[in-house]
Amino acid sequence: MSVRPGHGGRFLTAEEKANRPKITAQLLLRVAGYLKPYWARLLVVFLAIGLSSVLHLLPAVLTGRIIDEGLIGQDLGMLVRLLLLSLGVMLAGNLIGVLETYLNTWIALRITYDMRNQLFSHLQKMSHQFFMTGKQGDILTRMTGDISGVQQIFSGTLAGILSNSLTLAAAMVMMLQKNTVMALVAIVLIPLFTLPTRRVGKTRWNLTREAQERQDEINDILGETLSVSGQLLVKLYNKEDWETERYQKANRKMTELNLKERMAGRWFRVALSTFSGIGPMLIYLVGGILMMRYNADLTVGDITVLVALLGRMYMPVNALLGIQVDWIRSMALFTRIFEYFDLPVEIQNKQNALVPDEAEGNIRFRRVDFHYEPVRPILKGIDFSVPSGKSVAIVGPSGAGKSTLMNLIPRLYDPVAGAVEFDGVDLRDLDLRFLREQIGIVTQDTYLFHGTIRENLLYAKADATDEELADACKKANIYDFIQQQEKGLDTLVGNRGLKLSGGEKQRLSIARVLLKDPAVLLFDEATSSLDSISEHLIQQAIEPLMQNRTSIVIAHRLSTVLNADEILVLNEGAITERGTHEELIAKDGVYAHLYRTQFLEEQ
Ligand code: ATP
Repeated sequence: MSVRPGHGGRFLTAEEKANRPKITAQLLLRVAGYLKPYWARLLVVFLAIGLSSVLHLLPAVLTGRIIDEGLIGQDLGMLVRLLLLSLGVMLAGNLIGVLETYLNTWIALRITYDMRNQLFSHLQKMSHQFFMTGKQGDILTRMTGDISGVQQIFSGTLAGILSNSLTLAAAMVMMLQKNTVMALVAIVLIPLFTLPTRRVGKTRWNLTREAQERQDEINDILGETLSVSGQLLVKLYNKEDWETERYQKANRKMTELNLKERMAGRWFRVALSTFSGIGPMLIYLVGGILMMRYNADLTVGDITVLVALLGRMYMPVNALLGIQVDWIRSMALFTRIFEYFDLPVEIQNKQNALVPDEAEGNIRFRRVDFHYEPVRPILKGIDFSVPSGKSVAIVGPSGAGKSTLMNLIPRLYDPVAGAVEFDGVDLRDLDLRFLREQIGIVTQDTYLFHGTIRENLLYAKADATDEELADACKKANIYDFIQQQEKGLDTLVGNRGLKLSGGEKQRLSIARVLLKDPAVLLFDEATSSLDSISEHLIQQAIEPLMQNRTSIVIAHRLSTVLNADEILVLNEGAITERGTHEELIAKDGVYAHLYRTQFLEEQ
């Protein structure tokens, strides 16, 4: 964790200074928009803050009367009444404070609850490319840390500004009422007792930041060495001692910094109490001089009141000094979150998109061009069709664009030119849900959620019966494996399916696609990561899946190409050859070469 805006101290980091958000009226209106639904409650909060600010100051004022009228005036009845009044005022102030906090927190939590839901559902609509390019950590931070920061703004910062300003203003008015000269002395004193604490505060802040950077470093080491694959690497390269030393070094630095930080904190408190102690002394001195030398109209009680009021001003002044920083941080947080909200939904369902009654599964590419970045065309003039129930094998060198071509079919991307059609309809005119329901994908890197085998299968068909599950697993050649497990279908697959072998995972994903029963199958055949037995198992599993289904296969195996109705050779983004195996061999081009070097070898 790095220093997050909204959580830090009272100073901006260099990074924050460089990325100062532009605070525009538009931004403020947008933030205010979130408060709008809760305006009535907000009004109550404001009133409560105003009332509790005044109530918190009243006991200080009453102290003056307690001294003058009760103690010095030797009036016991009055003393008791004033004390009871003070008690009542104090209790009322505290109760109103509780009400204010409750409402405030309620509003802040509601707003961030709404924001989280909105952002999550917006992110669900983001394109494949967004998740490919965006940093996952960044996305998570916006969903968690940033929105929590926003919560703090609504519950803390806004109320803080209001209550501190009101307390300060009220204290000043009360002081001025008591004695103008003394009030002026107090006002002059304020900056005097805030400046030194700011200096100490800055040192402390720098230490905290450094400690957090060290913490980042430690977290990196932990993340790298205690993860499954990281630890594997450590073991295989005999780096245990090296890593331990690296960790110890970071840990030592961290410990030293922590000590410094604590001591700075101690000094901070010393500075705080020293300077807040000097203020009252000066008031006593000036008050004493005025009373004794100039016979001013001042009582002991008045001086006590002024001292008490000065004490109450200290906190709000300090808080308000930090408000500007809070403010900038808050706006930076909002800017970051709004940035995500404003990301356009690239792959959108068209209004009035077509939802056909049934799917035949004809796929057609019409002169499709595609690129990720305009400077680098990936697919050029791709034109082919796969009639319903037929199969096409795509072969070609690595990086030719085979996966990219495949990804256009479920509309993970849209073509830059030309069109992809499903049953004669441009995919962009087709209902996205309908389209994706018709497509099953088996890729090399199978994603499984953390959970049981059953849960992962039900992801494809929530209401599948046990018979259906067993049937799919049998067809996918994974049934026996599941039966061998102690818990059968309820076996946990481990973190992202890490407890399963590559082949098992792929067969499980074939079972998942069988359950989905789509009209079109997209299959990215495994390259060399599997041994021949598990390849054979997969081969057997995929056959029933391909039957009666339109299939497009990125082929690496001879049997697959031989079985395909048509073979497409993709080279540098263009289809350079097409036909059946015999036709292409006769042509003696790229395919014939591939056949001799790759497919035959594996035979
Ligand atoms: P392989 O057989 O090795 O999987 P492939 O033929 O499937 O290769 P693609 O994965 O389609 O090739 O990639 C084609 C080109 O597009 C590659 O040069 C790759 O670097 C680039 N590419 C792939 N995905 C992206 C992406 N999301 N953003 C930018 N470029 C990409």
